[in-house]
Amino acid sequence: MSKIYNFSAGPAVLNEGVLKAAAEAAVEFKNTGMGLMEMSHRSKQVVEMFAESEALVRELLDVPENFKVLFLQGGASQQFLAAPLNFAKEGATVDYADTGSWSAKAIKEAKALANVNVVCSSKADTYSNIPKDLSQSEDATYLHITSNNTIYGTQWKEFPTPKNPNGYLVADMSSDIFSRPIDWSKFGLVYAGAQKNIGPSGVTLVVVREDLFETSERAIPTILNYKTHADAESMFHTPPVFSVYVAHQTFNWLKSLGGVKAIQATNERKAGKLYAAIDNSKLFKNPVALEDRSPMNVTFIMENADLEPEFLAFAKDRGLVTLKGHRSVGGFRASIYNAMPEAGVDSLIEAIQDFDSAKA
Ligand code: PMP
Repeated sequence: MSKIYNFSAGPAVLNEGVLKAAAEAAVEFKNTGMGLMEMSHRSKQVVEMFAESEALVRELLDVPENFKVLFLQGGASQQFLAAPLNFAKEGATVDYADTGSWSAKAIKEAKALANVNVVCSSKADTYSNIPKDLSQSEDATYLHITSNNTIYGTQWKEFPTPKNPNGYLVADMSSDIFSRPIDWSKFGLVYAGAQKNIGPSGVTLVVVREDLFETSERAIPTILNYKTHADAESMFHTPPVFSVYVAHQTFNWLKSLGGVKAIQATNERKAGKLYAAIDNSKLFKNPVALEDRSPMNVTFIMENADLEPEFLAFAKDRGLVTLKGHRSVGGFRASIYNAMPEAGVDSLIEAIQDFDSAKA
């Protein structure tokens, strides 16, 4: 197999060693004579693997004792509904920052349940920045943010502080979890679909403060109630065992690299040089406010959009694939999550520079 560099936004590149371990476990897990996908989630081996996965999440993200770590299904999209359902009382106000299409989807779900105050929106600027002025409510139950905006390539560098002293942050960290440390003191809930920095789709990581369970005082459907899953240690129903195992291997790999702080330094170096190459080119430019540039999803466009298909073909010839921007913004997007090797970023930089000198 000739190796290509896959810049897809998600499902996204995984570490090669992780994939090999997953392939092995698919055939036989821990000398049981059975493949992992054939094994009961109640088996000793699987229960142990879940406990290790939780411990690795706690260690890598420094999760405090009063938070539960859950491996759920339904994607980040299900959390758009679960968060207000579990936390917002009838008639309560909840604050939401609108920084992209995923934020907007979270807002839509919350509106069915609570009084949503949109504290800011960069929609009129095609979501090219993170607004700095937030009109927060005095009494909002929580403030919801999307920490990294996968489609537009923006990131909250600093997390806002909820205005309500009893409020807390709820964050969709689908596209930048495990890329930087988290100061848990502000947070009530962090959730992330796995298919960027964690593993395959099918599992959703949820880290939730225990004292917030059932604070909405609603009749929460059992399957959407965080307490259900916390009480059952993520095994209320059959969990996505194989996806959790791939996540487990990714956590081990991340730990072997020195953890989140070490990968953060690598990510900053990777993104720093890619943005510099774009800024120094004649043909390409990054449309995002400088201070809000995402180290995970690097978006770039061309003044002359007619050349875009040509650059995509030029990059593809060099084994650099899935660089097309999201259909709603066009241009290009290089997703350079934790598992994108630095050599892949270097190769993309070379392609940008070579194309630039040939065409500009
Ligand atoms: N939030 C963000 C920031 C995302 O990037 C995505 C998926 N790309 C989602 C939510 C939706 O996740 P899922 O498909 O797991 O529901």
